[in-house]
Amino acid sequence: MPASTQESANSDPLNARIATVHEATRAISRQFPRSYILDCIKADRFPEEMWRAMGKQGLLGLSVPEEHGGSGGGVVEIVALGEALALGGVPTLFLVVTGLSRVPIIRHGTAQQIARFVTPTCDGSVKICFAITEPDAGTNSFNMSTFARPEGDGWILNGQKVFISGARDADYMLVIARTRKVSEVRHRTDGMSLFVVDMKSPGIRLDLLNIQVETAERQYQVFFDDVRLPADSLIGEADKGARLMFEGLNSERLLAASAAIGLADFVLKKAVSYALDRKPFGKPIGSYQALQHRLALAKAELEAARLMTYSAAERFDAGEDAGAHANMAKLLASRAAAAAMDAAIQTHGGYAFDRDYDIITLWPMIRLMEIAPINNEMLLNYIGEHVLGLPKSY
Ligand SMILES: Cc1cc2nc3c(=O)[nH]c(=O)nc-3n(C[C@H](O)[C@H](O)[C@H](O)COP(=O)(O)OP(=O)(O)OC[C@H]3O[C@@H](n4cnc5c(N)ncnc54)[C@H](O)[C@@H]3O)c2cc1C
Repeated sequence: MPASTQESANSDPLNARIATVHEATRAISRQFPRSYILDCIKADRFPEEMWRAMGKQGLLGLSVPEEHGGSGGGVVEIVALGEALALGGVPTLFLVVTGLSRVPIIRHGTAQQIARFVTPTCDGSVKICFAITEPDAGTNSFNMSTFARPEGDGWILNGQKVFISGARDADYMLVIARTRKVSEVRHRTDGMSLFVVDMKSPGIRLDLLNIQVETAERQYQVFFDDVRLPADSLIGEADKGARLMFEGLNSERLLAASAAIGLADFVLKKAVSYALDRKPFGKPIGSYQALQHRLALAKAELEAARLMTYSAAERFDAGEDAGAHANMAKLLASRAAAAAMDAAIQTHGGYAFDRDYDIITLWPMIRLMEIAPINNEMLLNYIGEHVLGLPKSY
């Protein structure tokens, strides 16, 4: 935890919540340092041992109520977990998609659906990924064409999704699909439904994408060809899935923000350590204001983004509308991370481009955060329209 928040951890309830999770995660980070995740990436395998250890320690159960087999706590706790993992240099996209996917199931699923799809994710024995993006619709998800038509008491799913993180490693995939054509609904947010799809179902095909982001989760194009979905794969009410999904997306934005602030701190620490050591003119390069101010500004921006992220998480946990704050948090955190990354690259000079220094290897992941899970332009659109009351721009 940054020194600023550590100091007040005992007196401030929010910081006490964060400190508890950070403390528990440090044991995981010691056992599974960045070199472990880099080995997993090289071997193209899911960090199963780390995931199971997180489950055993109750970390994967954070934000899941105890009556559903979780460890309790709220978005603050799972955001603190995301930050702590990234602080150790081990950001996991799978935590983001797991955290997001569980929200609508817990809130709108039946007791049986929660027991089957959520409870076993808490010890890591079952994994769930999330699929919304489509090749043609892109950011305009309401324009999706993946379609589930009713058949018997279930559904038949056809279509395709793209960029789906961890699809190979997941047991289930939370899929949002149209159940009514856009032409048949009054508003384009109507007519979409949420399904939990068993990844062993016949008719699912995965094509690995050639994505250069250093994470253990790979991205896939996923094809659904007449995939039969039983009735109990539908979460909540049919045709009302968009609203359910939006509830989860706020926590996804905050999990993305948590990874951004944790990684920003991780690269800044690396940059500071290098800046103290490197002395091409006899004095440490960290003594030159051109570099020092750049690093200091990145630190200040990172701390501001951090405050916004936890403020949004607290709002979410208090049941308040966290939309604007979550969007602002992800916007600020991803920009702060990009600034920290840029400062770290400048500090390392030519060595920034030597993969063995593990600086350039962090760049795609950090840069991605300005684009995914939602690009920053859409966040600015939201703030412009819903916070400032300006006309819709697209
Ligand atoms: C490594 C990785 C992991 C991912 N994991 C998942 C996952 O697990 N599940 C999943 O469903 N998706 C996932 N995604 C998809 C990701 O969420 C999308 O790539 C992202 O939402 C942007 O969609 P797009 O790439 O189609 O961009 P496009 O929609 O083509 O947009 C391109 C650019 O245009 C601009 N733009 C678009 N629309 C507007 C607008 N209205 N106003 C202003 N500017 C605009 C933005 O700058 C944007 O970056 C992942 C992507 C990557 C790269």
